Amino acid sequence: MQQLIDGYSRFRSKVYPQHSKLFEKLAKGQQPQALFITCADSRVMPEMMMQCEPGVLFSCRNAGNLIPPPSEVGSGVPATIEYAIRVLKIRDIVVCGHSDCGAMKGILKIDELESLPVVRGWLEHAGPSARWLTKMLKKTTTMSFEETLEAVTEANIIVQMQNLRMHPSVDEAIRQGALHLHGWMYDIGSGAIRQFDPETGAFTPLIADGRTETHSEPAKKIA
Ligand SMILES: [Zn+2]
Repeated sequence: MQQLIDGYSRFRSKVYPQHSKLFEKLAKGQQPQALFITCADSRVMPEMMMQCEPGVLFSCRNAGNLIPPPSEVGSGVPATIEYAIRVLKIRDIVVCGHSDCGAMKGILKIDELESLPVVRGWLEHAGPSARWLTKMLKKTTTMSFEETLEAVTEANIIVQMQNLRMHPSVDEAIRQGALHLHGWMYDIGSGAIRQFDPETGAFTPLIADGRTETHSEPAKKIA
């Protein structure tokens, strides 16, 4: 815990004074560019990955980056989505899964979660297709556990993008052409992001190989 307190101390003494104008502006409101739905995993750090400052990403995080139906209000996910679309007028939603995801491992080993009934119940939101895929993949002998895990993680991203359409605010905004969905897969070991291409049904690099920056003005960061 001391490491966190020391970090806060540096934030107060060095980082905050350097960006005081930004924080004064943010104190009056937010206009985030995207709703970023990702796993609670400590190794996934959206602001660092996107190199953006506070106020840019409206975040929603939970085990497995799952999106329950609108009727499941207990988790807060449906409320976060509705607020993002109808109040903040966010035009892009990113569903970002990641490598070595503990929640996806849990789906693959759902029968071993007796001591984690809440987790097991939450993972039901991965949907019946996850159970079907897990059973199918278990029957194959050619795929390693890592390959199976990647397949289930990528399938979950696609399923959760579809689950988003169950939310009236999302469906309405998409029909109006005011909202776009993005499915991303983040690899912790390499830092690379692949995006789902609905046309080809494949995950392809978010940026071309060797390209390190876009031609637009790079987003500012706070470090
Ligand atoms: Zn995870």
